[in-house]
Amino acid sequence: MTQEITTPVLIVGAGPVGLTMAIDLAYNGIDCMLIEKTDGHIDHPKIGTIVTRTMEFFRRWGFVEQVRTSGFPDDYKLSIVFCTALTGHQLERDDYPSTAESPIPEGTPHKRQRCPQMWLDPILQRFAGEQPAIDLRFQHTLESFTDTDGGVSATVRDEKTGEVVTVKAKYMIGCDGALSMVRTDLGIPMIGKTKINYSIGILFRCPDLLEMTQIGDIERCILVGPEGTWGNLTVIDGSKLWRLTVFGSEERFDIQNFDSEGWIKRALGRDDIPFEVITIVPWRRTELVAENYKKGHVLIAGDAAHTMSPTGGMGVNTGFGDVVDLGWKMAGTLKGWGGDHLLESYEAERRPIAVRNAAFSTHNFKTWNVPVDTSGINTPGEEGDRLRKEIGHALKENTRSDWQSWGIQLGYRYENSPICVPDGTPATPDEYTTYIPTARPGHRAPHAWLSDGRTILDLYGRDFVLLDFGAQADAASAFVAAADKAGVPLRVEAIADAEIAKLYEQPLVLVRPDGHVAWRGKDASDAAWVIDVARGAAMLEQALTA
Ligand SMILES: Cc1cc2nc3c(=O)[nH]c(=O)nc-3n(C[C@H](O)[C@H](O)[C@H](O)COP(=O)(O)OP(=O)(O)OC[C@H]3O[C@@H](n4cnc5c(N)ncnc54)[C@H](O)[C@@H]3O)c2cc1C
Repeated sequence: MTQEITTPVLIVGAGPVGLTMAIDLAYNGIDCMLIEKTDGHIDHPKIGTIVTRTMEFFRRWGFVEQVRTSGFPDDYKLSIVFCTALTGHQLERDDYPSTAESPIPEGTPHKRQRCPQMWLDPILQRFAGEQPAIDLRFQHTLESFTDTDGGVSATVRDEKTGEVVTVKAKYMIGCDGALSMVRTDLGIPMIGKTKINYSIGILFRCPDLLEMTQIGDIERCILVGPEGTWGNLTVIDGSKLWRLTVFGSEERFDIQNFDSEGWIKRALGRDDIPFEVITIVPWRRTELVAENYKKGHVLIAGDAAHTMSPTGGMGVNTGFGDVVDLGWKMAGTLKGWGGDHLLESYEAERRPIAVRNAAFSTHNFKTWNVPVDTSGINTPGEEGDRLRKEIGHALKENTRSDWQSWGIQLGYRYENSPICVPDGTPATPDEYTTYIPTARPGHRAPHAWLSDGRTILDLYGRDFVLLDFGAQADAASAFVAAADKAGVPLRVEAIADAEIAKLYEQPLVLVRPDGHVAWRGKDASDAAWVIDVARGAAMLEQALTA
């Protein structure tokens, strides 16, 4: 007889999004089973950039220091170079400091961090493996599932033994990547651009690259030839590993005849620098978002729900945002205090962010393409110099949003969320490069340093938090009573800091477990319906007209 296992939540896919989904559920006190069809080994790291907002999530979960010190050299400068080859014509150089030299950006307690995926995933795997609430099983494949009245019944194969088990879960979350079987089986279409181009990533070892090219520390080299921008070289570990991405067209590469060594030599501009090709991975650049994020008892997150060009490094970082939005909602629903609309609000909040971030990523890719004819890029003499200068200038100016995306990283907001109560204040501009801190409902509650040295973000996490900046005496207790009645975990935090009070703008601010503002105001006369809206138990329209 087939063995049967029950779990509150079955997560399919232990890539970075599935792993953090499990970690966030464990953080919220929910048991889950996490299955992954591979053995979890990363032989071709795709992810390299961890943005500031994700570092805030890692801080919340407890492993930000491990990511920060995972091995990328702190003193390695993260400059961007535009050139015909590393030893060819340098068109422009956008100098950036090393992580150690960079100041902490305003509005967040963390710098962005380079942490290649072959270091990141093992940190996440180890951390998830240590959580008693997570039943993590590698080499276990989801084969099929059915959504029943009370939950999901899934067939899972143990790839080592061939044994098949039935997993009964209240909910299933598909974190199974761009080709998501979960999404496909649910019949959810992806909407957007299916084919921006085909590209090939070549991971190679070249310990002498910096010394022999004398190019200086680089995070990235954008490579331009007579045909236009043809590739990009990215640092992986800050010493010997590099990835060359070769851009194709709308046609697939002929992988059998793909000359990876020839392309690396073209990028280096010399053929006497020793290197060794490690892996070659073809992939498709897209801008796609799933039409729905939930169907019945099944939800999707990460690349299963959206795929975007890696330009700007928002792919997995958007997935981590999904996780933090979904985790507390799933916990609230399973614990019974979440209302009927709470899980539905996941799609309403996160889908627009995926559309936004995917458009940003495509925008960045377009800026890598030179707006002038480059056919004469190798022309010698002054005429060539003039053209090269023009190309370099255009690239440097146009690509800034890629490297300085503070607005994208920190400024996302859940506009029109069914579980945030708008306060009538106008939206701040949603711009790629500029972040304007605000505690307007729907936004990430802004960072500020507390007098004890913590960031205010450290107050947010498992519970709702009511920030009290000196409101009337009974106001906070009205919220506590309303939350108690609904079974919602709520803490009151009195903050006696005029600067932070000014930043948050109202004497009472209700912050959700994910650190987004649900409501702000002066008094607690509507405390009960505010709590009901925030926990997805009352429709916002009904509440507002009540
Ligand atoms: C060249 C490149 C560079 C990139 N750089 C960055 C970057 O710097 N920053 C960034 O934010 N993003 C980057 N991205 C995007 C990033 O790689 C993805 O967004 C991220 O990997 C998605 O994570 P995920 O966990 O959703 O999916 P995946 O990483 O695809 O993981 C899905 C997992 O599900 C498993 N799985 C699938 N089907 C099943 C099944 N039936 N049963 C069990 N397990 C299953 C798979 O084996 C896999 O491990 C880059 C992408 C590319 C191509």
